[in-house]
Amino acid sequence: MSQAVRTKPEGMGQALSEAYDTALLDLDGVVYAGGNAIAYAVESLATARAGGMHLAYVTNNALRTPHAVADHLTELGIPTEASDVITSAQAVARLIAEQVPAGARVLVIGGEGLRVALREHGLEPVESADDDPAAVVQGFGGPELPWGRFAEASYAVARGVPWFASNTDLTIPSARGIAPGNGAAVEVVRIATGAEPQVAGKPLPPMHRETILRTGAERPLVVGDRLDTDIEGAFNGEVDSLLVLTGVTDGAQLLAAPPQHRPTYVDADLRGMLTGQPEVTEEGDGFRCGGWTAVAGAERLELDGEGESLDGLRALCAAAWTAAGEGVCALDGGKALARLGL
Ligand SMILES: [Mg+2]
Repeated sequence: MSQAVRTKPEGMGQALSEAYDTALLDLDGVVYAGGNAIAYAVESLATARAGGMHLAYVTNNALRTPHAVADHLTELGIPTEASDVITSAQAVARLIAEQVPAGARVLVIGGEGLRVALREHGLEPVESADDDPAAVVQGFGGPELPWGRFAEASYAVARGVPWFASNTDLTIPSARGIAPGNGAAVEVVRIATGAEPQVAGKPLPPMHRETILRTGAERPLVVGDRLDTDIEGAFNGEVDSLLVLTGVTDGAQLLAAPPQHRPTYVDADLRGMLTGQPEVTEEGDGFRCGGWTAVAGAERLELDGEGESLDGLRALCAAAWTAAGEGVCALDGGKALARLGL
């Protein structure tokens, strides 16, 4: 379980890529953004892998098949097998298979990733509410998903057919801005039916279970950019996590994180997998990391010292999270973060 200040997790003193046997990497905002590799991702992953760490890629996006994701990563210069990719489509297919008769029909609202995952479990994807489905499943269908598909799902769900969703991310980043994600599509059916789906994706346990089953990881490290999916998923699975700042999370959000959103480690990018993470120590009423000391004052977080900006952020996190306990830190960290350029 996460704590405000860890006594000494495995990755303090030795490289994370050596302290953990498997990295469970999120994709968007961690490995790539808008289709292109993020700075230092290709070489950092190659080094971690050469050192013996198993790399697995864990995505809430149910649209693409593991093969398609692996091909994309390989094109970017990160050699990947389909078996190293775990999707929320696979997690939801297992969840469905556990609850319906073998070979049952499943009404699919979504893309090819979902259909392939269902067939892998011997289930038969069907397209109409009139096909007598034993379950309805919704996964991201991409921009071409016709509105009529939501009607099809609603007819079956309203009749009481069990309803599943691969994930409920409300938005999905695109090169042109923020687009509605599968969570928004799920809301459409929820509004029409008043029903509640079973959800598989991050941060929920079915996704973490799928990941551990497929990778056989014994000492996994979750690597992600999002607090409410990647980091909370690690918290729920009771495994350690590394937050990288190449995606959607900034310093202010990190300082205001409730316990389930607090990563074990934080670093700028995937180079953080290759180093031992510096220890944060309690000193008097403050927390010290590298050359920085952070103190929770009456109204704001105070920061003193100099050195690597990431060390300052680590010290601030310890001060903020300790002050907040099981709650959310309300102290103003703006000035301290500005000093770090974060
Ligand atoms: Mg992400």
